[in-house]
Amino acid sequence: MTDTTSPAPGVADDAAAASALRAHVDALFPALQSDLESLVRIPSVSAAAFDQAHVAASADVVAALLRDAGLPDVQILRSARPDGSPGAPAVVARRLAPQGAPTVLLYAHHDVQPPGDAATWATDPFEPVQVGERLFGRGAADDKAGVMAHVGALRALAALGEDLAVGVTVFVEGEEESGSPSFLQFLTDHRDALEADVIVVADSTNWKVGVPALTTSLRGLVDGVVEVEVLGHAVHSGMFGGPVLDANTQLARLVATLHDDAGNVAVDGLVVGAEPEVDYDEAAFRADSGLLDGVRLAGEGTIAGRLWTKPALSVIGIDATSIAHASNTIAPRAAAKLSLRVPPGQDPAAAEDALRAHLEAHAPFGARVTWKPGEQGKAFHAVEDSAAMRAARAAFATAWGTEPVDIGVGGSIPFIADLLEVFPAAAILVTGVEDPDSRAHGANESVHLGELRKVVLAEALLLRQVAGLSGAPA
Ligand SMILES: [Zn+2]
Repeated sequence: MTDTTSPAPGVADDAAAASALRAHVDALFPALQSDLESLVRIPSVSAAAFDQAHVAASADVVAALLRDAGLPDVQILRSARPDGSPGAPAVVARRLAPQGAPTVLLYAHHDVQPPGDAATWATDPFEPVQVGERLFGRGAADDKAGVMAHVGALRALAALGEDLAVGVTVFVEGEEESGSPSFLQFLTDHRDALEADVIVVADSTNWKVGVPALTTSLRGLVDGVVEVEVLGHAVHSGMFGGPVLDANTQLARLVATLHDDAGNVAVDGLVVGAEPEVDYDEAAFRADSGLLDGVRLAGEGTIAGRLWTKPALSVIGIDATSIAHASNTIAPRAAAKLSLRVPPGQDPAAAEDALRAHLEAHAPFGARVTWKPGEQGKAFHAVEDSAAMRAARAAFATAWGTEPVDIGVGGSIPFIADLLEVFPAAAILVTGVEDPDSRAHGANESVHLGELRKVVLAEALLLRQVAGLSGAPA
């Protein structure tokens, strides 16, 4: 990234800067941990049933942290949700780029999931407790550690004292755990303030303790309801049963055509991506999912491929006569809600067309099959050879001493699609502080402090790389 052999005046070379930054991160880490603990003590649950004063309080604390980290322009902002109600408070903090220099947007969220049943926690969810190298508490990983990664990187760079030619915008959302309902409106309302060349989303996971990862793919989603009708009205099962198959049975037969005998999705025309470079250990997968002894895994190929690069289709709801209301009649209609996860490279609209065509072509016994579309969400696949991605890989490799791996996530991060829609030219880097033991959303959530330290260093290195120091003014 530099075309000269000596760095610009006042700017250390990369190796010297990396070791100086590492020393700064080590020196500032105790204070950073203490600030993370203060954030964890604020029960900023964004779910509607919880007191939203705590979400406002955590926004205030995050704003103060960003102001103290040297960002001159800090605001707490809200946008309207689709129903017209105000969204949760988000913090936007900026330091403008010098003329011609790039801008990096650093994303995290300060709201948390509800704690769930307190009896399932070994410690108080909102009183941080360090055990060994892990700090336990709700939000300690997801995503208050993401907030502190941004704060820590800015503190470390300030301690290094270079004049970086890069604009920094930190955007800390307050309702990610409630589905980001005002996110798209927020991006639209504050488009100019949030516009960036590189977007770092610190809300995902690393591969394991000691091995960093970039999340380069997320599956998209198509859902909807398939309805099967066989009769104009219910009839007596003794008088008509035999020649007429009830709608519940016909729906079951139709649903059964959606997978082959091995458990692969059997809908023609769906994209199947390449196998990932890493795999999920089967024993760990069985334990993590709570699969019962003796239940076999469905589908073929690697487990990671089945989760990240292949489609998955689930029945997530059924409308049928309940057992309590069952009578000896032949059901005239039944319906199922289907949820189809689609891999990167699959257009959700095309996937929905394929699913609808499959359902119509497999109507059992000529039953009337209708499809009612639901939601669609786009899959995400990072541009793997962008300058920003190369800079991120180099920063991770320096911070951990080992190359990062590319991972996928089987679910979606809905706001990534919103970011892509509003900022199609930005390079989006999905990073994070979690590891497989972090138990985000579950009881006994924790962050590995050694990993958090590396994330802080990696992010500081990344910002310095993006600044393209060779061209910076002295
Ligand atoms: Zn999160």
